[in-house]
Amino acid sequence: MNKAPDSCVTVLSVPNMDCASCAQRITTRLERLVGVEKVLPSIVKKDVRIEYDSRVVRERAISEAIEELGYKIERSDSTKAEGKRSSVWSGNFALRVYASGTLIATAILLRILGLNPGLVTTVVLTLDVAELLLIAAAFAGGYNFFPKGVLAARALRLDMNFLMTIAIIGALGIGEFIEAASIAFLFGIAELLEGHAVARARRSMEELVRLAPASARVRRGGGEVVVPVEELEVGDIALVRPGEKIPIDGVVVAGTSAVDQSPITGESLPVTRGPGDTVFAGCIIHGGYLEIEAAKRASDTTLAHIIEMVEEAETLRAPSQRFVERFARYYTPTVTLLALSLMVIPPLLFGAAFGTWFVRGLTLLVISCPCALVISTPVAVVSALTAAARHGVLIKGGANLEALGRVKVVAFDKTGTLTAGKLEVIEVVAAPNGGPTSDELMALAAALEAGSEHPIADAIRRGADGARIASVSDFQALPGLGVRGCVAGEYYQIGRPDLFGSAIEPLREDLDRVVAAGRTAVCVGNEDRVLGVLALADQERAAARETVAKLRALGIGRIVMLTGDHEESARLIAEAIGIDEWYAGLMPGDKVRIVGELEQEVGSLAMVGDGVNDAPALAAASVGIAMGAAGSDVALETADVALMGDDLSRLPYLFKLSRKGERIIRGNILVSIVIKLFLAAGVPIGLVNLITAVLVGDMGASLAVTANALRLARVRD
Ligand code: ADP
Ligand code: MG
Repeated sequence: MNKAPDSCVTVLSVPNMDCASCAQRITTRLERLVGVEKVLPSIVKKDVRIEYDSRVVRERAISEAIEELGYKIERSDSTKAEGKRSSVWSGNFALRVYASGTLIATAILLRILGLNPGLVTTVVLTLDVAELLLIAAAFAGGYNFFPKGVLAARALRLDMNFLMTIAIIGALGIGEFIEAASIAFLFGIAELLEGHAVARARRSMEELVRLAPASARVRRGGGEVVVPVEELEVGDIALVRPGEKIPIDGVVVAGTSAVDQSPITGESLPVTRGPGDTVFAGCIIHGGYLEIEAAKRASDTTLAHIIEMVEEAETLRAPSQRFVERFARYYTPTVTLLALSLMVIPPLLFGAAFGTWFVRGLTLLVISCPCALVISTPVAVVSALTAAARHGVLIKGGANLEALGRVKVVAFDKTGTLTAGKLEVIEVVAAPNGGPTSDELMALAAALEAGSEHPIADAIRRGADGARIASVSDFQALPGLGVRGCVAGEYYQIGRPDLFGSAIEPLREDLDRVVAAGRTAVCVGNEDRVLGVLALADQERAAARETVAKLRALGIGRIVMLTGDHEESARLIAEAIGIDEWYAGLMPGDKVRIVGELEQEVGSLAMVGDGVNDAPALAAASVGIAMGAAGSDVALETADVALMGDDLSRLPYLFKLSRKGERIIRGNILVSIVIKLFLAAGVPIGLVNLITAVLVGDMGASLAVTANALRLARVRD
């Protein structure tokens, strides 16, 4: 991320930013401020992240703009935030709700028992004790909404607090005491339930943050010191003892240990890590002792990126969330207008009873709040994304979650994705007429491949282990074809046979034999002469067959394989894995074209590949899924979805989760809109009273949709 030096980021905590329309209002207001570059509100965390140019605008001006809209800003000194992890069920808000509930219960009890202890006469009217208790209940519960309601009114904002204030006071004013008290109480309960759901989503996100170790033991000036991870510099040697967390991404320089990498890759089996191996912050070491040379700053580790992306994910809004927000923009004002006309028109024009129609108008107002609807999508997105992160899968935002849920075709890259990518050179054929020997050929090939990250290059370098490797200059990668470079003053190339045109003819027979055996054939030579052929063998991944079968069982109708390798080797692998549709001999551009064609034909497509080699095809797909992303910043940044580990078996989980997520989000939207419409239709004809509206339209709907959304956290593989 390259920000201008004066670009600042601040996160303001806004506790009464309750729903998407509030977030929207704040965003719109701040974006009008000169110097504000980016506004990312989060309803789940109840904060706003603002990027701004500190030369142009002050943080003060930003917070004042928010406060002018009637929102409170809480200075978040971290100590307070730590200590304040109390449950929503025990705060002041909750206490007022309990108080009003108790008062209502007492009032009802008094009436049922027929204990009507005398009448209390006030200035204008006469009340019994039960009625007094109900008034007290309305005020106790209503106090949760009154101050915010007044603030909202002053900012000319029609929010739920304002509506509740009007409804409670209005009901009291016309003597509907039980109504007033019940609204205050039930609506409080609804808010608590909603808060509970949001808090749960937030907690799962915080658990992710807690995976990151806070301090590290490092060797400095001959001794050992413990420093906060933020102070670690690249090159520091961190010492990690058994049972401790690895504090930083780096390379092991001494020691060996089993490492539990599940916080990053989701894989529960520990792996052995020793000198030269890469390890990740947040992983726990078992039984051994490691010295790790830091390769990154604490803010750049894979874990830090995961956390950052999950936290930002809520703000990359899913399409359905945008739909809900657009819906709310028209729905709420329309219903409010209807409510107002319901209050005034029948009494004024037809001489109907004012009290009845006033209450009906209020009822409609209560129904007009789309809060349940609006909160359920972010809760679903956050639950799904954090659950996925703990399974070693990083999904970037609700939009990708929904896109995944709609996927009809999955395309796999072959080398390194369906196959292990651990190729081996199993045969070297040198051209007969006096060229280099096969050993010299391997050394030359290894020299050429020194700079390539392709699995084939890796195999060749391993195969030439021990030989003297010359250095290469003018190195050039030919993606999907091979590489080219200058070794000992002469230009050579290595790669696909078709790189060489007809120069391949003298070795045709050998080439055909290698190809017929399903091996990957790679030729070495210069412009006009082929010096030899290398045959490489790869193995299918153990999990590939099962993964493909599971994806089919999940209803993904079409699974295809794309490869730059030749037809024969493609067919052998595809058949072994159970894929019946493949495209071979593709250039990277062909892969992009085929991805586009398949999308045209069937709709949404997910492409699975490695994030470096297959980046163009991943980018072209509706959803690009990169494998083995831990440690590869490019893959992590560019993919829509990243499997942190190298484990294909995450895919069925991923599709299960996203399909369920899609269903839940759609279902929630549909159900809450239908409920609201039915209730609204029932109001003018007197079928739906205030209490039903609060109970079903707000509390019931909130409870149903958020509980439904939280189910996503429990999807198993
Ligand atoms: P896949 O689609 O199977 O992942 P690629 O598109 O990466 O394969 O590569 C296609 C073909 O290009 C390989 O089968 C190989 O013949 C050749 N090739 C690509 N990169 C290299 C390289 N670094 N060295 C030699 N051959 C290469
Ligand atoms: Mg590949």
